[in-house]
Amino acid sequence: MIYKRSSALFAEAQKVIPGGVNSPVRAFKAVGGDPIFVTRAQGAYLYDADGNRLIDYINSWGPMILGHAYAPVVEAVVETAKKGTSFGMPTEIETKIAELAVSMVPNIDKIRFVNSGTEACMSAVRLARGYTKREKIIKFAGCYHGHSDSFLIQAGSGAVTFGTPNSPGVTAGTAKDTLLAKYNDIEDVKHLVQANEGEVACVIIEPVAGNMGCIPPKPGFLEGLREICDANDILLVFDEVMTGFRLAKGGAQELLNVNADIVTFGKVIGGGLPVGAFAARNEIMDYLAPIGPVYQAGTLSGNPLAMAAGLTMLQELNDNAPIFESLAKKTKYLHDGMHKVLKENNVVHTINRIGSMISVHFHQDKVIDFETAANGNNNTFKKFFHSLLDQGIYIAPSAFETWFLTDALTYHDLDETISAIAKAAKIL
Ligand code: PMP
Repeated sequence: MIYKRSSALFAEAQKVIPGGVNSPVRAFKAVGGDPIFVTRAQGAYLYDADGNRLIDYINSWGPMILGHAYAPVVEAVVETAKKGTSFGMPTEIETKIAELAVSMVPNIDKIRFVNSGTEACMSAVRLARGYTKREKIIKFAGCYHGHSDSFLIQAGSGAVTFGTPNSPGVTAGTAKDTLLAKYNDIEDVKHLVQANEGEVACVIIEPVAGNMGCIPPKPGFLEGLREICDANDILLVFDEVMTGFRLAKGGAQELLNVNADIVTFGKVIGGGLPVGAFAARNEIMDYLAPIGPVYQAGTLSGNPLAMAAGLTMLQELNDNAPIFESLAKKTKYLHDGMHKVLKENNVVHTINRIGSMISVHFHQDKVIDFETAANGNNNTFKKFFHSLLDQGIYIAPSAFETWFLTDALTYHDLDETISAIAKAAKIL
């Protein structure tokens, strides 16, 4: 495929935007080449500035679970926009989406809406600190919770792709309050909690890690965290920005049957508009201003367009529960097909999958944490990525990312993808 126009647009963008992109993972730095400039998208397909059609396995990094430009969501946004785009005052739709979200997700009574996953996680940690009156937090190497200061310590996703898991600009004072544990290693968490007795406010985790590729929790790991937190009055925060309303109606809490104390959301909950949220039981949420002492705010929080998109998306998912099974079936089909053709071509690989999240690493060890994720052969990944791109298949431009399937994908699209993977395998 030809990407001439995209390259020209990228050259222009770089003159006025740092690196030509407004979020680093969009650049192709890890895989080489110029990023694709998209002009429109429909269902499972992206259409780029050169007129190419690509099958999309990123789906805006997760939100487009029902496909791009999903008609009911588009209609809701257009109709709402005609009545005004922001008021900075309460609207009824905020209560409607809150009621629906609370009814779909286990163990939460109240939810507050913000504008991004970063804001949601940042606010959740402040709330946990205010509620417990403790300062330290535990996070896991390779997990990404947005770009706020406390989280850019051994972060995953773009932070590690671009070699800055610990970003300059984060002060030593902030960094010292973030304790780092190994994903899927309960003993490591126990030691940290013992060594910092009475000082840890919360453990924050992606219940299924999606920012070092896809890494599901080992059986018993999340249950172990729950026990440690209960025994030490520590709040357990599930970052469900990726998994919320994707793995099940009630997200990872429902699918894996472990309850968190605070849950954060992003991506699917906004139907493609800028939305994040955090939620918990009454006694924790009522610690927030204006009724409690922990301050958190936002001019555009609960924005009517964002709420209209989010409410419509959640209604569609709530009314159509088999969607999650359908997505999981499609993802398994892709897994089986990809494994078969890579094996036939003697390409060493490991595929991780849960629900509609899947990723491939090019080595033979099990990928269970950041260390094993980082062992992958990046040269092989680069060749794989570019071969797929040349064949019109768009996957994330980094091995530290998860693929997100959309239900708009047909089995024909999946077969086309598996054939492209077979072709790619021949040159790996
Ligand atoms: N948490 C997780 C698990 C994420 O994957 C992301 C973004 N990929 C974030 C938080 C941050 O969300 P946002 O990019 O909307 O700030």
